[in-house]
Amino acid sequence: MHSYSLIAPAKINLYLEIIGDRPDGYHELAMILQSIGLADYIDVHSISNDTIRVHSNHPQVPTDNSNLAYKAAELMTRQFPEAFAKYGGVEISINKQIPVAAGLAGGSTNAAAVLVGIDLLWKLGLTQSELEELGATLGSDVPFCVSGGTAIATGRGEQLSPLPSLDKIYIVLAKYRSLEVSTPWAYKTYRQEFGNSYIRDTNDLAARASAVHSGEIVKAIALADAGKIAQKLHNDLERVVLPAYPQVLQLREIFANQEGVLGTMMSGSGPTVFALFESEQQAEQVKLHVREAISDEDLELFVTRTITHGIQVASSI
Ligand code: ATP
Repeated sequence: MHSYSLIAPAKINLYLEIIGDRPDGYHELAMILQSIGLADYIDVHSISNDTIRVHSNHPQVPTDNSNLAYKAAELMTRQFPEAFAKYGGVEISINKQIPVAAGLAGGSTNAAAVLVGIDLLWKLGLTQSELEELGATLGSDVPFCVSGGTAIATGRGEQLSPLPSLDKIYIVLAKYRSLEVSTPWAYKTYRQEFGNSYIRDTNDLAARASAVHSGEIVKAIALADAGKIAQKLHNDLERVVLPAYPQVLQLREIFANQEGVLGTMMSGSGPTVFALFESEQQAEQVKLHVREAISDEDLELFVTRTITHGIQVASSI
């Protein structure tokens, strides 16, 4: 095989708690991450010369070495120089469907797909946990994107514990195309405003992170109870993003007042807001109502659902 087509799903955060500062300068987090049906499509081909090339259908996606997919390929060439010499370079095509800079891990899932694709192209036979370990060096969300489904992520977000899969909870996502929230800004502002409540002791950090495992939302996930999950959605970053971005706050309020919405929350550092539903029909209905309430063409709306997997191979030649 010299070409693989991969499906790279986005994620939402059902839960995001900032526990404290870590000695390495990152934040200690406790998150619950959920893969969703909205996905990018990534083709990975072997090419005869020793280069990495990236193409994308989306103007905001860089095609140089700042692209996380490019960085993933570069990492593989460094880690496996013999396979690189044997199989040659890699061409990566990104068909971007996931909104960019949206809090949906678009870049991270592309990087995860490239790790999986090159592992297959070069017949490396890496295990899922080896791929996740490589992914952790590229970004905190990459390991989750490899395996996907539903998981608790602690540490910087790279330490994963799988949870029972949540299938078919329906979702409406809303994002203003031209609105971007800088993730570093969101965490920095949170630290400035709320850092005095951080846990500082390393043992207490670990204890708090592990307490999340027995929290209410985890119990609701074990029961696959969409209504209870929706009542326990949480995202600390809303405390800084909602006051600074009135459009995000407005989306939250509109969703909260729609019939059929089980719960609504911002994903990651935003600006995407999501709402959860029992049925696809309810989700489609609310999408229409939100479109009527905000007739701004800059607003993108998607209906999708929870899925139980991360990167998947669609085809190979
Ligand atoms: P996360 O949820 O992991 O914080 P995000 O969904 O908020 O990520 P991305 O879509 O990954 O954000 O984009 C963040 C920035 O990364 C963009 O502004 C873009 O320029 C850059 N970028 C690099 N590689 C990619 C990629 N493969 N896809 C999208 N953006 C990329």
